[in-house]
Amino acid sequence: MVNIGLTGGIGSGKSTVARLFQKRGAYIIDIDAIAHLVEKPGGMVWNRIVEYFGRKILNKNNIIDREALGEIVFRDSEKLEELNSIVHPAVFDEWRRRLDDIGSKDEDAIIISDIPLLIEVGWHRAVDLVILVYTSPDVQTERIMERNCYSYKEAKDRLRAQMPMDEKIPFADFVINNKGTLEETEAIVDRVWKELPGKGRNAKNQEMKR
Ligand code: ATP
Repeated sequence: MVNIGLTGGIGSGKSTVARLFQKRGAYIIDIDAIAHLVEKPGGMVWNRIVEYFGRKILNKNNIIDREALGEIVFRDSEKLEELNSIVHPAVFDEWRRRLDDIGSKDEDAIIISDIPLLIEVGWHRAVDLVILVYTSPDVQTERIMERNCYSYKEAKDRLRAQMPMDEKIPFADFVINNKGTLEETEAIVDRVWKELPGKGRNAKNQEMKR
């Protein structure tokens, strides 16, 4: 099994690239989906979040309103840290469980986990390879303005709150340049896909730029 972390910045194209790898036979684990799962109403993580932030962060169905929670922690690093300390261990455990489960059934599995904050939370140390989906800040801004209907300022504020993508490059074993067309990205994915089987730790840093 090859355990790969796929990361990037907001709107850099992680989900898009994950789908391209899935088409070629990769198993995909979506870490955001795991976060949603562990935050289900009534569970331990849900209880602790409600205990700390109050019921004001719940919607009518008692589901955690991620927008409301995001607004709070976006402005308060102490609260963000507390939220992470509640959510991350549960997500990590479920992620490892899924990796083990796939690995036990298919020893040749190529597993790509889409983890937006892979490097920020230090989980790059828990994977064999890191793939970075890269776009320039300008392209990122354009794409999230279109996808999320953000104003230019909203998009820029979101970007500024993140680790700059250029600082992630040294952590990457493969950089997939997603600045161009989908066809161009698909061609890079094809080249990277061929490199993955049998790759363990210590793979050489290589940039797959056009
Ligand atoms: P987030 O982490 O914010 O959810 P992401 O990194 O998963 O984002 P995607 O949702 O895959 O990014 O892509 C962001 C937007 O850019 C989407 O609307 C997607 O359709 C579009 N997009 C991605 N890659 C390309 C491309 N090469 N050309 C044009 N549009 C693209």
